[in-house]
Amino acid sequence: MAVDATLPYDDQNIFAKILRGEIPNRTVYEDDYALAFHDINPQAPIHVLVIPKGAYVCWDDFSEKASEAEIAGFVRAVGKVARDLGLVAPGYRLLANTGTNSHQEVPHLHVHLFAGQPLGPMLVR
Ligand code: 5GP
Repeated sequence: MAVDATLPYDDQNIFAKILRGEIPNRTVYEDDYALAFHDINPQAPIHVLVIPKGAYVCWDDFSEKASEAEIAGFVRAVGKVARDLGLVAPGYRLLANTGTNSHQEVPHLHVHLFAGQPLGPMLVR
């Protein structure tokens, strides 16, 4: 079910549990600011989720409230994951859903990184 991105952060969301180590994940990369792991239901040959370690509901919440260090750390982590996976030359797509119209399901900011094949049009037509 899509979430209302204006609600307060819910620390029982699935990615909060992953960050606390209560639920396993297939980690691709981790540093002080970010965790990257394989999506449980991949929509492309490579489908990685990158999440900030801080408690932010969505891109809006993060861009408004995160510190400069958190923002820089998270953005750099997304780029590093793509580089480490060798995706810059073949290309990749980033996507961050916010709120109901985008069908955001997990209320902890995550950037989807899709790659591994031509990815088609940006949006369903
Ligand atoms: P959203 O629709 O919120 O942008 O995307 C949520 C993503 O989280 C979906 O692609 C879904 O497959 C993924 N996901 C949901 N639960 C889990 C989980 O427990 N583990 C992992 N690795 N991915 C999950």
